[in-house]
Amino acid sequence: MPELSLILFGPPGAGKGTQADRLRIDFRLPFISTGDMLRNNVKDNTELGLEARKFMDAGDLVPDELILAMVGERLKEPDSEDGFILDGFPRTYEQALALDQLLSERGRRITAAILVDVPDEAVVRRLSGRRVCVKAGHNYHVDFDPPKHDAVCDQDGSRLIQRDDDKPDVVRNRLMVYHSQTEPLISYYDEQGVMRRIDGTRSPDEVHDHIRAVIATLRLEDDV
Ligand code: AMP
Repeated sequence: MPELSLILFGPPGAGKGTQADRLRIDFRLPFISTGDMLRNNVKDNTELGLEARKFMDAGDLVPDELILAMVGERLKEPDSEDGFILDGFPRTYEQALALDQLLSERGRRITAAILVDVPDEAVVRRLSGRRVCVKAGHNYHVDFDPPKHDAVCDQDGSRLIQRDDDKPDVVRNRLMVYHSQTEPLISYYDEQGVMRRIDGTRSPDEVHDHIRAVIATLRLEDDV
């Protein structure tokens, strides 16, 4: 089986995490989310966590050198040799260049950058209503996927909270950062011929089917 190295790309709240969860099961690939890795560091009070937190709480990007050191270490682990699903990385031009460099040193390259596209109004609606449980991070939405009991997780009974970076002002800043720093990467991956666009406003099942179809087509093209 050829390498399958995917980047899930798109604004915050596009549903990349939900899709990555499904794709990781479909293709048995490691899921590497820089947001999750950073949140774990914050929770564990590591040096990186303490440094990163101030940027994350404001909805700003954590500096490239911290992110690149963290991702570089992660990609050295043997589980990503046959590929990976990246979520939330790369987010800047420097990060994209560094990733290409890291992969090309190992004779590898990105298979596809999949843009899960959602307009800003929908992002604000989705993120400002999102609630996560304090124990395991299970996700809910006050309108679209409410818990059975107010502010209590259906799965483990823990308290539901709003992530600091899901508060409306911070969401607006995250979107601004996405448009100014991350969106330009679309043309970078377009030029490499690996960018594929998906309508992220459809249901999670439809988005998942579409991504699978895109991957199947890429594999057929690879075989030709
Ligand atoms: P996410 O869960 O992917 O939206 O990430 C949450 C926050 O972590 C972002 O708002 C940034 O502050 C930080 N972050 C995650 N990934 C990156 C990255 N690749 N570069 C810089 N900052 C990042």
